Amino acid sequence: MLQNKIRRLVVGVVTAVASLLVVTSPATAETSAVRVIKYDTSQAQEFKAAWDEGAKVWNASVKNVRLEPGTPAQIRILADNGWPRAQVSGLGRGTVWMGRTAVNDGHHVPRITAHELGHILGLPDRRTGLCVDLMSGASAGTGCKNPLPNAAEKAQVERNFAGGFVAPTSTDGSDWALAG
Ligand SMILES: [Zn+2]
Repeated sequence: MLQNKIRRLVVGVVTAVASLLVVTSPATAETSAVRVIKYDTSQAQEFKAAWDEGAKVWNASVKNVRLEPGTPAQIRILADNGWPRAQVSGLGRGTVWMGRTAVNDGHHVPRITAHELGHILGLPDRRTGLCVDLMSGASAGTGCKNPLPNAAEKAQVERNFAGGFVAPTSTDGSDWALAG
């Protein structure tokens, strides 16, 4: 009998503490600040402005994360004669390449930079062939000049950076080249 009373008392105290914790949690959520990720275009060669444009696209599209030029940078930016690609080492960090093969083929450069930055922000390739999808990449063809993420892509990035949530690490080795 006494044991049951004590048990009930303990349960009561635990419940009271738990409800206090629940009451305080909304305030914590509201104070979460926008996450700033820095990118470094010092090795971007002739594509510096295009990467700035890609960053601006994202800054205008989402509010939980902001891309700013500067160092130390979480995003390293390079250029070579291959295909554009991203090597993601974690959410909000990695290396992206502009590849002159895609540029020479006529792919829209601001769409490429926004797409590769999309990988850094946690989006995978989705080769739908649709120009309205940013992450369809080269599958939308060289006629596609859309550098903007669609509503679902924006929502996913907002979720990825909401409340300090860290998405699982992913690596994107292949990329624009295999999109056809
Ligand atoms: Zn891609």
